[in-house]
Amino acid sequence: MPLTLDTDLTYLKGVGPARAAMLRAKQLETIEDLLNYFPFRYEDRSNTKPIRQLAPGELATVVCEVKTAKLSGMRRKALGLFEAEFTDSSGGLLLAKWFHGAYMADRLTPGTRVALFGKIEFDSYRGELQMMHPETELLTGDEDESEAALHTGRIVPVYEAAGKVNSRVIRALVHRVLEDMPTLEDHLPESVVRQLRFPSRTEAIRYTHFPPPGTPVKILNDFRSQAQFRLIFEEFFWLECGLEIKRRKARSLPGITFQLTDRVREQIKRLLPFKPTGAQKRVLKEIADDMAHPSPMHRLLQGDVGSGKTIVAAEAAVIALENGYQVAMLAPTEILAAQHYYSLKPLLRKLGYEPVLLTGSLSAKEKQKIKEMLVVGMIPFAIGTHALIEKDVEFRNLGLVIIDEQHRFGVMQRFGLAQKAAAPDVLVMTATPIPRTLAMTIYGDLDVSTIDEMPPGRKTIITKHYTGDQVELAFSQVKREIDDGAQAYVVYPVIEESETQAMKAATAMHQHLASDVFPDVEVGLLHGKLSSAEKEAAMDSFKTGRTKILVATTVIEVGVDVPNATVMVIEQAERFGLSQLHQLRGRVGRGGAQSYCLLVTEKLGDTGKERIRTMVDTQDGFEIAEMDLKLRGPGEFFGTKQSGLPSLRIANILRDPDILGAAKDEARLFVENPPSAADFAKAVEYIKGHWQRRYALVQVG
Ligand code: ADP
Ligand code: MG
Repeated sequence: MPLTLDTDLTYLKGVGPARAAMLRAKQLETIEDLLNYFPFRYEDRSNTKPIRQLAPGELATVVCEVKTAKLSGMRRKALGLFEAEFTDSSGGLLLAKWFHGAYMADRLTPGTRVALFGKIEFDSYRGELQMMHPETELLTGDEDESEAALHTGRIVPVYEAAGKVNSRVIRALVHRVLEDMPTLEDHLPESVVRQLRFPSRTEAIRYTHFPPPGTPVKILNDFRSQAQFRLIFEEFFWLECGLEIKRRKARSLPGITFQLTDRVREQIKRLLPFKPTGAQKRVLKEIADDMAHPSPMHRLLQGDVGSGKTIVAAEAAVIALENGYQVAMLAPTEILAAQHYYSLKPLLRKLGYEPVLLTGSLSAKEKQKIKEMLVVGMIPFAIGTHALIEKDVEFRNLGLVIIDEQHRFGVMQRFGLAQKAAAPDVLVMTATPIPRTLAMTIYGDLDVSTIDEMPPGRKTIITKHYTGDQVELAFSQVKREIDDGAQAYVVYPVIEESETQAMKAATAMHQHLASDVFPDVEVGLLHGKLSSAEKEAAMDSFKTGRTKILVATTVIEVGVDVPNATVMVIEQAERFGLSQLHQLRGRVGRGGAQSYCLLVTEKLGDTGKERIRTMVDTQDGFEIAEMDLKLRGPGEFFGTKQSGLPSLRIANILRDPDILGAAKDEARLFVENPPSAADFAKAVEYIKGHWQRRYALVQVG
């Protein structure tokens, strides 16, 4: 039976039920899936040599057999040194060593045939040639010559294993499929292929798996061969097409045309307690223009922590309110919702609007009452948590939705909410500045406004690193600040497994600080396990200045705004992610006074050190986000799936921002001005069929 793209992998020779299950776990089910499973690295094994011809210093592949093997004893075997001697038909001897090599001991028993790849060194002590930690592939005896030739004597693709299906098996499967593969349909618009001189899709796939001899391996490992370039471009192209189509579709819905009358402008001025920065003025204009436009606004407002996004959002709210529409503001936590509520209430009241706070901890009766008032339009401005987007919450005429800290909600909920009314304007605020490249991908369907200027008078926050035994130094700084009339935070990490544990740590520290270190001042406690009323009381007491020191878990990470707090001690700072540390630090330095962030660490690994150094060195949120992304990888940066961040197959946002930019431009051109209606329809079909499944984000048509 000839293979087609839809053929199940179990039809392939060598794929039985066990392997099929492991492949399936990696979402590899069909021939097409396999063809799109690309190597992550390439090795040049064209230099295959008999042992006797090896010279120190060269990179070589050696096909040989284990002669002797030993794991030298340490009490803990996993830490042992594994050494094996190899020989081949040339009669030479080659030594290889693996530190922590216990895992090799079962695989490399005398008589096993292997291909070793690595750098040849000379062990002068023993007078032997050796390789340290060579790449090792077991050669099974039962494959024929041509198949064995796949794995040595050429540039070899290296795949991520799927369970026990290792790189070598995948390589053989892909090779077999490519031999019988029909010509693949080319979906990229012909004009793009021609203009960029791309190879055909068939050729691109073939050469990405098995590059032609002589291709420089460096180019392959940079993913810049023509074949790879095309596939990366193609992946971004369809993603960006999908986003662009979606963006246009959202924009084409009938929306609200808000009027920007003089009265509206007057009211906005009355709202402001201070003179806006240039950046705030600029983004407000962008937002206001967008709101005055008949199509629905879908805009991201980003700016570093403390840059003053909240007031801009409030100004946008005034536009909607003055036009007679309701406004909903969503926050990720009750504390943050309450914080917004208390800071916006006095401002909005000045203009005659009474906001309402709707959170999960209200009684059923209270909630019911609020719902009834919302649906008849008696509540102009509702602030809340996810309780606000429950199905049974209805508005009379919702005009603007403000979503704070978007990434914490997950992208999909945004649409759940947007569907509540005909088409309200949506303003998403994020305090985690997103590197531009990433923003283009995950928020590609949003327009972006950026506040890139801090309110005047802000001083740089002095950030210092202390080890655990220096914690007293941190606390004496706290004491100095409190003596000067300021306030302090002491923060504890929530350990993933156990919020209870973090609560205990915070509670114990609260005890310790309150009775031993600062017996003369009020020390408050705030953590996730308190009831809403208790949380509110703790926050209130800190805000009014009665509590001088607030011991807290990360519940204070976002939004909390107490300008009189000038010092933050972060305990076990190594447990926090970089963006999180930056968010936390943003809680101080909100007034005019010099502020401090004191990072106390216990056990510091390599990336931990890097994170702390970055924190000490810079205060630029964009730079920090970029570094965070580098240290963690795009997947984790946003908490993977729920962020809607697409899992790309060959493209890599960090490595390929240039190709992303080019693909985005081409995609926009294509959607704006497709060669023909039929071409466009075909593209939409293709995106639906091939991309929607993976990128829930891209809902087209
Ligand atoms: P973000 O939400 O961007 O982290 P906020 O909106 O909470 O920042 O603002 C941080 C602090 O700066 C608040 O105390 C706010 O009142 C103050 N602020 C904002 N804009 C200005 C401005 N233009 N001038 C002075 N203070 C400002
Ligand atoms: Mg904020």
